[in-house]
Amino acid sequence: MIIELPEHVKYILDTLGEHGYEGYAVGGCVRDALLGRQPQDWDITTNAAPAQVKALFRRTVDTGLQHGTVTVMLDKTGYEVTTYRIDGVYEDGRHPKEVRFTASLSEDLMRRDFTINAMAYNGTDGLVDLFDGIGDLRRGIVRCVGVPKERFTEDALRMMRVIRFSAQLGFAIEQGTLAAVRALASTIQRISVERIQMELLKTITSAHPMNMRLFYETGLSRYFLPEWDAVMETKQNNPHHCYSVGEHVLHSLALVPQDKVLRLAMLFHDVAKPLCRKQDEAGVDHFHGHPQESAQMAEQILRRLKFDNETISRVCSLVRWHDDNPPLTARNVRRAIYRIGEAQYPAIFAVKRADIGAQSDYKKDEKFRYVDDYEALYREIVMKGDCLSVKGLAVNGADLIAAGVPQGKTIGAYLRRLLELVLEEPRRNEKDFLMEQVKIWMAD
Ligand code: ATP
Ligand code: MG
Repeated sequence: MIIELPEHVKYILDTLGEHGYEGYAVGGCVRDALLGRQPQDWDITTNAAPAQVKALFRRTVDTGLQHGTVTVMLDKTGYEVTTYRIDGVYEDGRHPKEVRFTASLSEDLMRRDFTINAMAYNGTDGLVDLFDGIGDLRRGIVRCVGVPKERFTEDALRMMRVIRFSAQLGFAIEQGTLAAVRALASTIQRISVERIQMELLKTITSAHPMNMRLFYETGLSRYFLPEWDAVMETKQNNPHHCYSVGEHVLHSLALVPQDKVLRLAMLFHDVAKPLCRKQDEAGVDHFHGHPQESAQMAEQILRRLKFDNETISRVCSLVRWHDDNPPLTARNVRRAIYRIGEAQYPAIFAVKRADIGAQSDYKKDEKFRYVDDYEALYREIVMKGDCLSVKGLAVNGADLIAAGVPQGKTIGAYLRRLLELVLEEPRRNEKDFLMEQVKIWMAD
């Protein structure tokens, strides 16, 4: 088993070796290299103590000295070099509360979470694989190193990591590992929301976002995203749908690109359906007002999960407008672009297509054709350079003030009224015409 190590990594391992230390590439990079994937970053494990590592390299950063990690800088890239260690109790942080250094590589590998993440490699010794990580890679299985219940009791976040890696790699979860997640799901409450958010995000932006289902099935989401459980438990008897709300959302996730905002928008686009559901006399389910309600719920949820404001606002806007279907005239589409916000385009089309793609075949072609026509019209409008916002008007606040409009909120109100005229008919976007209007309004 040969892994082509990058020059920098070879240099670090060689330097350690020349000074009598052991050094290996370890963890995610070995896993990814064996899978033929490009590793994100190369981590190195060594029996050298942090001070010894620092003495060997010209530029280093003290990333986490108390945990044994020194970052070695080569050109502009950082490589985390961590001393072999045995972890103490994991608490909320990204790192265990206390660590003990050890002289033994095998003890360092034993503390790692999954067999596929517990392999080390260097050019001299080749692959060090104590737990048949390579076998699990070949079989496509995520399995705990050691006894699953013990490992999850040490660090409950590992339960989310199981699902995250299964989603990233398209792997199954070993039976005993999965059973332990089910048994210990409630202990996820010990983990900080920041760490939960990170694993959730990695799962939904992965190649297999439908594994989001596993958060429900294992009982984990009940503790950090109970709204997801409600979605998974809501049926929808309606000709437009062939899945429950949950299965519909799962399919829609897989139909948008692996982008954070798009995947979050799909995850939450129908989140209020369980609350909006009304059955008519014929037994058909209706969900009036669900986009608006879902946007509000999504905002609460994303805040609770500590997402940033920019992400929250983009996701919620896509959720709110996912079912907005303007009649396809240029005028209506210009108004829609203004209402929804130029920045949400063309993302809104991806959302609409994924939503339709995850529905029943009933009128499906028609719905897709509508989105195609909507997008064509949108592109035409953008190409023409039509004014679509107050900023694009041929007059600005200063022009209005110069014409004697009182400063304050009247300015904004007038500009918006002008924009309405221009959205109606783009040729009106001329200074003379617009100022004429303003004078008429002032005389009123
Ligand atoms: P990626 O960086 O692609 O998310 P990774 O495998 O590198 O995946 P990291 O979170 O960067 O994951 O961790 C690096 C390595 O450290 C892992 O491969 C694993 O060996 C070990 N590790 C990380 N977190 C834990 C944990 N909570 N418990 C045990 N071992 C862990
Ligand atoms: Mg990593």
